[in-house]
Amino acid sequence: MGATGGGVPFLNHSIFTMAYDVVVLGSGPGGYVAAIRASQLGFKTAIIEKESLGGICLNWGCIPTKALLKTAQVVNDIKHAESYGIEATGTPKFDAIIKRSRGVADKMSKGVTFLMKKNKIDVVMGFGKLVSKGKIEVEKDGQKTTVEGKHIIIATGGRSRELPALKQDGKKVIGYREAMSLPTQPKSIIVVGSGAIGVEFGYFYNSIGTKVTIVEFLPKVVPVEDEDISKELEKNFKKQGIDILVNSEVTAVDTSGAGVVATIKTADGETKLEADVLLSAVGVTANIEGIGLETLGVKTDRGRITVDKNYQTSVPGVYAIGDCVPGQALAHVASKEAIICVEAIGYAEKKFNHAPEALDYNNVPGCTYCYPEIASAGYTEKQAKEAGYDIKVGKFPLSASGKASAAGHAEGFIKVIFDAKYGEWLGTHAIGYNVTEIIAQTVTARKLETTHHEVLNSIHPHPTISESVKDAIEVAFGEAIHL
Ligand SMILES: Cc1cc2nc3c(=O)[nH]c(=O)nc-3n(C[C@H](O)[C@H](O)[C@H](O)COP(=O)(O)OP(=O)(O)OC[C@H]3O[C@@H](n4cnc5c(N)ncnc54)[C@H](O)[C@@H]3O)c2cc1C
Repeated sequence: MGATGGGVPFLNHSIFTMAYDVVVLGSGPGGYVAAIRASQLGFKTAIIEKESLGGICLNWGCIPTKALLKTAQVVNDIKHAESYGIEATGTPKFDAIIKRSRGVADKMSKGVTFLMKKNKIDVVMGFGKLVSKGKIEVEKDGQKTTVEGKHIIIATGGRSRELPALKQDGKKVIGYREAMSLPTQPKSIIVVGSGAIGVEFGYFYNSIGTKVTIVEFLPKVVPVEDEDISKELEKNFKKQGIDILVNSEVTAVDTSGAGVVATIKTADGETKLEADVLLSAVGVTANIEGIGLETLGVKTDRGRITVDKNYQTSVPGVYAIGDCVPGQALAHVASKEAIICVEAIGYAEKKFNHAPEALDYNNVPGCTYCYPEIASAGYTEKQAKEAGYDIKVGKFPLSASGKASAAGHAEGFIKVIFDAKYGEWLGTHAIGYNVTEIIAQTVTARKLETTHHEVLNSIHPHPTISESVKDAIEVAFGEAIHL
């Protein structure tokens, strides 16, 4: 075993076997969190990674995109500097923007290196594949190592989903990786898909001066969100100059010319649209191929690994978490699944004193970080009605929020949904300035089965965006003060 990579026990590869209590395959927010928790519980732990520690989240997902979105915010602040009493101009420099984003990602990945070292977790770099029960073969540069683990946790994540009509060539038809590392700024971009990834890139590129068209197959943008949120985002994006086509499908892409020509089937017939590049942002495909699942008989269903509430697969001793299992493909979901999985192993091995609680997938916060930001948790209005609840809905416009007005960002609203009979908090759907910072309150309150009484009896600081959650609840129960 040799040490490289800043003193972290990255292992040199030769033909020998290493044995551990827990081996984690993949080091994203699922994998590295699982490894740390396992080490904390006293398990001898190793983690295997083929690319960069931190996975998609830190290297190609959550973090580098947020760096790009910060640039977009600065650009927009400069555009509107006059309204803050400042004379300022600025020109976005694409290469410097990309360089900053990559630098932030790099720093965060190095942070995981530090955490592995701190927690005495062995890092094995290379492509890992289950070869038999408790055994993973790791290959790097033609050399093979066998890593043995009593418990193996698969956390191989996902990649950009490819549609047959949108084969990615990495240059003109691109996925999210290329979208955050293009060599030059495109003059125009077609973004296919209006989920979180699509709208974040759409907002970023539009902010720095690229002509953006978003094409969405479903009738509304950000399709998983509450109807009102989708309408508000569409209105705001159009105001910012982004073109949006809903109920539309890209059926073919011609890349033979200088850029791309997309054939789009819309409700009004077929149309053709030209752009420098086309970003396919139509979801995530789990990385489940070539990792030996078939060898061990690990069951999968619709492209994801089948697991129970403790993330045990169909094969005892093999677990799976994160984007490669069913559930929301989000970093905080992967991390929570990691903790539950490892604590269940710890409980079974008498290293942890209680069985973990199963994750409630209906109380997962979801955030989108374009402007206006979107944050939601729990039932949408439609889902609450479909579930048979008699509901009370309160909507508080941020135009009535002192904090939002002072910030010059008075767009959007906070909408809360309560059960009329017992006052159970069913959901929150927010769009506007900094709303991603207020959603954890709803998640905690729902976990505690809090009713509107407790929330209205809790003082919210003024002026904040979080006080507008209380305002929305007051609206729901006919007690509004500020509206
Ligand atoms: C552009 C973008 C923006 C996003 N923004 C957000 C956000 O703001 N908030 C949020 O919550 N989520 C966001 N996500 C989603 C989030 O990144 C994922 O849900 C999260 O990274 C999943 O974590 P994971 O641990 O399951 O897998 P990943 O992060 O995908 O990590 C899997 C790791 O396993 C490694 N690996 C795979 N196969 C092997 C193998 N055979 N051998 C060795 N190593 C292997 C991969 O190299 C990778 O490092 C975003 C995603 C994208 C693409």
